[in-house]
Amino acid sequence: MLKHTDNIIEVKDLVKKFGSFVANDHLTFNVKKGEIFGFLGANGAGKTTALRILSGLSYPTSGEVKVAGFDVYKEGEKVKKNIGYMSQKFSLYEDLTVRENIRFYGGIYGLSNKYIKEKTESLLERLKMKDIQNSLIKSLPLGWKQKIAFSVAIFHNPKIVFLDEPTGGVDPITRRDFWEMIYEASDLGITVFVTTHYMDEAEYCDRVSIMDQGRIEGLDTPGELKKQFNAKNMDEVFIKIAR
Ligand code: ATP
Repeated sequence: MLKHTDNIIEVKDLVKKFGSFVANDHLTFNVKKGEIFGFLGANGAGKTTALRILSGLSYPTSGEVKVAGFDVYKEGEKVKKNIGYMSQKFSLYEDLTVRENIRFYGGIYGLSNKYIKEKTESLLERLKMKDIQNSLIKSLPLGWKQKIAFSVAIFHNPKIVFLDEPTGGVDPITRRDFWEMIYEASDLGITVFVTTHYMDEAEYCDRVSIMDQGRIEGLDTPGELKKQFNAKNMDEVFIKIAR
């Protein structure tokens, strides 16, 4: 269910080309504040390309893109200050401990020592990871690492967090735990923009966009998309679009 009405992401006619190849073909969509927005598409559909533009990591070829009220062309640094980003490739330091990783990222975000210390304690408590706070990241299971990576991505209370396939390769129980954390972040008012390959996860989103070959071919609530494509579940919607 949509919780807010203000748009926190506004994208109009976004085009991204690599040479003559069009990776994002006139994307137009808005994301509302506090929304959990699912960004779906087959491999190579253009999701990561769009996500990198929204995060201020690369520039569009043309189009208008506003994130957290800032223009990604002119105010990229302000965009970066207001977002968290969890990349598809694992984003923690394997040779640092859990606590050291949290400390490190807190420092990058320019947070005070006092804030980092207090927040680290409550975070370790929430993650039930007090006992392993001094373990090296590389010694932990993937699902645990992903939970830490997500926590670190929202450590500075960003307005929006971008998650690029955060649950890829993670077991179903840990995936559920992960989604609990997503809901908690959303309840705190953080907008969640998430890409996934798991169609059951698409059902957990407020709204879902489905991309195919650089274009958005469907965008609505899971319920409306199922109606629109006359499909029993999101899997079927996805297959109909990708075909
Ligand atoms: P996946 O689910 O595999 O991550 P995706 O939907 O995120 O896929 P993108 O990574 O955005 O897809 O890639 C979209 C297309 O753009 C692909 O064909 C890819 O090869 C191409 N592409 C991405 N980055 C570049 C680049 N820097 N130079 C040239 N082509 C690129």
